[in-house]
Amino acid sequence: MNVVYLDNNATTMVAPEVVQAMLPYFSQMYGNASSMHTFGGQVGRAISTAREQVAALLGARPDEIIFTSCGTESDATAILSALRTQPDKRHVITTRVEHSAILSLGQHLESRGYEVTYLGVDARGRLDPDELAAAMRKDTAIVSLMFANNETGTIFPIERLAEMVKERGILFHTDAVQAAGKLPIDLAKLPIDFLSISGHKLHAPKGIGVLYARKGTRFQPFLRGGHQEGGRRAGTENAPYIVGLGKACELALAGMEAEQTRVPALRDRLERELLAAVPDAMINGDTEHRLPNTTSIAFEYVEGEAILLRMDQFGICASSGSACTSGSLEPSHVLRAMGVPFTYAHGSVRFSLSRYTTAEEIDFTIRTVPPIIRELRAISPFRAK
Ligand code: PLP
Repeated sequence: MNVVYLDNNATTMVAPEVVQAMLPYFSQMYGNASSMHTFGGQVGRAISTAREQVAALLGARPDEIIFTSCGTESDATAILSALRTQPDKRHVITTRVEHSAILSLGQHLESRGYEVTYLGVDARGRLDPDELAAAMRKDTAIVSLMFANNETGTIFPIERLAEMVKERGILFHTDAVQAAGKLPIDLAKLPIDFLSISGHKLHAPKGIGVLYARKGTRFQPFLRGGHQEGGRRAGTENAPYIVGLGKACELALAGMEAEQTRVPALRDRLERELLAAVPDAMINGDTEHRLPNTTSIAFEYVEGEAILLRMDQFGICASSGSACTSGSLEPSHVLRAMGVPFTYAHGSVRFSLSRYTTAEEIDFTIRTVPPIIRELRAISPFRAK
């Protein structure tokens, strides 16, 4: 059975060019970049090239790029650094719709006596800038707002929000894990201090990430030890993965145009056809400001999990808008924060495309999903009689 992979916000296929770029660094050029000899030195040069490739995608300077192990580490490093460099400031602002990488850290900080404000969103997942303005205080160490939401694809107006934060002299971090490679980002123009990305969301492997830290921003490392990454992140560099991420960023930059046209055209067709074929269905999120590859569709009167299981039997991979908490299915924290009605939230499915998604795969999904919903609705206990 062919797999129709529409779960690219969960993780992506490693691009063949990325695999090819990485391979020599496992068994031929396996030296340590910190070694004095030429053999290690060539690895150091490959890491420098990767740093330049990542910087080019983000409009950053190479020395502002810190390689980490994942998006989660990048997020934690930024926030903990802000708290450690400003010990008198014990307040953090974020949102209720962040990834658990931020939300769990927020809970941990609260348990250690810090104060965290979680900004809410409206029914379309949008932040109210006035709420941010009202939440900022003298003791706010950092504001961390995601660039784009992983479940709905909703994009926050990061430039405007960052400007508001910087006007108050507060550090600003954005989790751009879902945005990098899908949206143009130019850090030369955006007043952002810290930005996180993760390799496995843009066709590099799992287990490699980046923290961008603007030059001149005071910084405290999360991992201490060797002098790697200019003393900002200890640990022998994961050279093959760093090289792979560099290549993935180069490919993302070269393919940005297609990402902005072909991918959203496929996504929009999927969305249009499914909504036309299935009554009582709606889109979650802000359809005007959305990642080009993402749609979260709520099918009323059915369980998202049941849809996923049936789609899986046809080889279609997607995600639901629910999470299993203490044995029962709860709508995700994102849909709850948006106040999506219960009967819709439960039947929410996220389809996330990539540059490898084909028109045939979208056609197959358009043909397959409506009969599944009809079949499930016929046996649904939620169905209004
Ligand atoms: N932030 C967002 C918005 C994400 O979607 C994810 C992964 O799903 C992460 C952070 C965590 O990234 P990683 O899996 O590299 O730790």
